[in-house]
Amino acid sequence: MQLYSTKNKANKASLKEAVFKGLPEDNGLYMPERIPVLPTDFLDNLEQYSFQEIGYTISKHLMAGAIPDEDIKTIVEKAIVFPAPVVRLDDEKYILELFHGPSLAFKDFGARFMAQLMSYFNQEEDTELVILVATSGDTGGAVAAGFLQTPGIQVVILYPSGKVSPLQEKQLTTLGHNITALEVNGTFDDCQALVKQAFLDPELRSNIRLSSANSINISRLIPQSFYYFEAYKQVKKLGKDVVFCVPSGNFGNLTAGLMAAKMGLPVHHFIAATNRNDVVPSYLEEGKYHPKPSVRTLSNAMDVGNPSNFARMVDLYAAIEKAASTPESAWPTMKEAITGYAFDDQATRQAMKEVYEKYNYVIDPHGAVGYLALKTYQKEHSNTLGIILETAHSSKFKEDVEAILDREIEVPERLSVLSERQKVATNMDTNFDDFKKWLLKHF
Ligand SMILES: *Cc1c(COP(=O)(O)O)cnc(C)c1O
Repeated sequence: MQLYSTKNKANKASLKEAVFKGLPEDNGLYMPERIPVLPTDFLDNLEQYSFQEIGYTISKHLMAGAIPDEDIKTIVEKAIVFPAPVVRLDDEKYILELFHGPSLAFKDFGARFMAQLMSYFNQEEDTELVILVATSGDTGGAVAAGFLQTPGIQVVILYPSGKVSPLQEKQLTTLGHNITALEVNGTFDDCQALVKQAFLDPELRSNIRLSSANSINISRLIPQSFYYFEAYKQVKKLGKDVVFCVPSGNFGNLTAGLMAAKMGLPVHHFIAATNRNDVVPSYLEEGKYHPKPSVRTLSNAMDVGNPSNFARMVDLYAAIEKAASTPESAWPTMKEAITGYAFDDQATRQAMKEVYEKYNYVIDPHGAVGYLALKTYQKEHSNTLGIILETAHSSKFKEDVEAILDREIEVPERLSVLSERQKVATNMDTNFDDFKKWLLKHF
């Protein structure tokens, strides 16, 4: 497997390089040079494969040559350890629950797979790898849980003191083992600045092997394609045209779906659902891409004004047009495959109530945006089977959900047990020298 940069296809990297570097120097994004169509025998008999076997088959073909098959098998078996069930609302609407991992959001899939790949490639090195992560709360939890007890890897999480929710803080500070939490007396931007400066510091770089767990790392995208096949498998026998509806922020999830379709999954159509941060729906409508500053909404994990994976979407469709990768050249084919819709918070609240009253299902604000988009699409496309990606468990947004539905909701035990655990964190000022000294002393 070789990858190229979306900014310059001549700029190539091996999977190992792409995983450790995260981003190419030219600030493009890594894309697989070849996204193979999977064997007909696999596509025709999906129902005979377990979720892990689906992941293995995809990885074996996509990552061919980068890692021996038997090692890929082990990596997938260690990474895919929670299910992705499809739940029925009615004959047209289904929910793909992606929240059965430790941090209750789909990001657990990417984080675990990335951890396994990094650990695998790191075996060839004699020194420990230290991963620095700045978090405003959410991503840190998925990364911490994903890397927990991964051999050869230490993780240092920097979070802004007093600015993450109590339960989020517990997710970052109670794991122990190879996960160390630094409670920074500052903002998320201060945390990010410390991490950035560490990567630029020659003394640190010559003493410690540093890496990041960036959200646009290709190793987070690959496993996200697995659950599209897994979901399709569960509704296949109904024999309908399957539409995936993806609540989107940075569009990683949707991009993984597009890759699944390219690998041969018979997806009838994609729906890009956003909140008021609607740059992609506007682009799909008009053909012009205008990033803008994000606005704060109820579905805040999708508050993104310039989605990082948009370059990958453009790259996929520009290739079909055999044109240069520009938003304009990708538009004619992209708009045929994806329809975009955007909704505000008021509509989102209304949808959460509707889903609860009509189907007795507690949907989170992100999934509710998806529900609205699917409902709108199906007004003109009846007889399709829509699958909404439920990107997080509703209890992650407990206060909002309880206020909107006017009832108490359950917190899954894997999260609620954390509130009794002891927080362990080291206090850190925003001064870089202190952070540097701490790193040199510990690693
Ligand atoms: C990260 C996240 C999203 C957005 O996913 P993208 O892949 O960035 O589009 C949506 N919902 C939740 C709950 C998330 O955590």
